[in-house]
Amino acid sequence: MEIASVGNLNFDVYLRVSELPGPDENAEVLDLYTGGGGSAANFAVAAARLGLAPRFIGAVGEDPLGEISLRELREEGVDVTYVKRIAGVRSGLVVVLVHPDGVKRMLSYRGANLGLAPGDLTPEKFRGVRHIHLATGRTELILKAKEVAREVGASLSVDGGTALAKKGLDIVRPAVEGVDVLFMNQAEARLLAGSHDHRTAVEKLARELRVGELVVTLGARGAAAYGGGKLLHVDAFRVDAVDTTGAGDCFAAAYIAMHLRGRDPYEKLLFANAAAAIKVTRPGARSSPRYAEVEAFLAS
Ligand code: ATP
Repeated sequence: MEIASVGNLNFDVYLRVSELPGPDENAEVLDLYTGGGGSAANFAVAAARLGLAPRFIGAVGEDPLGEISLRELREEGVDVTYVKRIAGVRSGLVVVLVHPDGVKRMLSYRGANLGLAPGDLTPEKFRGVRHIHLATGRTELILKAKEVAREVGASLSVDGGTALAKKGLDIVRPAVEGVDVLFMNQAEARLLAGSHDHRTAVEKLARELRVGELVVTLGARGAAAYGGGKLLHVDAFRVDAVDTTGAGDCFAAAYIAMHLRGRDPYEKLLFANAAAAIKVTRPGARSSPRYAEVEAFLAS
């Protein structure tokens, strides 16, 4: 089943350091890992592994990093035909400093990602698509995607991240109105609702936002979903988590895979919770599982 994922594509560089350098100091890097990243691209890869046929809609520069990032997506079975190539701009890059205390410090260069404009979301690029997932906090893209989704008859999900939550309810409310599924993590839900407690935040957002389903991931506490007047919660599976990077993207892709199969809200939540639990046991932003692995995990 064809779907589209719209938003960021990055090249991620992880540097494991024993200490963070002070001004004018040099700190040694103990280990280096590179891999594809960017929320929309991670979602597309996770969706492909779960048996969907995703196309990625985003932008890269005309540089080697962009080529590597696109090749990685192609190798995962993601269609990159409609990726915009922008001359004179560098592709998105994220540098993550991983300290032994487990704390990560990230430096993001959005580069070509910023060149994706509402005018790039033309209906022709979405023909034949059953679902559009938007992983961006840019409201101008969300508004345009809503138009296109209506035109091509696709359902729509949005994961706006911190960038969207920071905008506040007055801006977010009209932007997401009518969206089928809205994803956020607990920090974003609390920020947007102006509440310290995630449960109060979910309840407030469920009242304030007119979306089909509101899905809030709660990290090691699982996830909650509000839809059709009902609030559901699942506890996280007990696993040895080694890397939660991209867990939210994997969760969203698995939830949408079940949504498109017409599963009930509890089944969607459970399947996504299982897929994300498998992901966190493996390093890397794109270490999401295949469909059969999730089924086997749930049956075990
Ligand atoms: P990211 O931004 O890194 O993609 P996120 O903050 O959007 O992540 P989280 O809420 O941290 O997303 O996690 C998403 C899902 O991953 C959770 O809802 C849960 O299903 C699973 N998960 C995360 N951490 C754990 C854990 N320690 N054990 C089991 N499952 C986990």
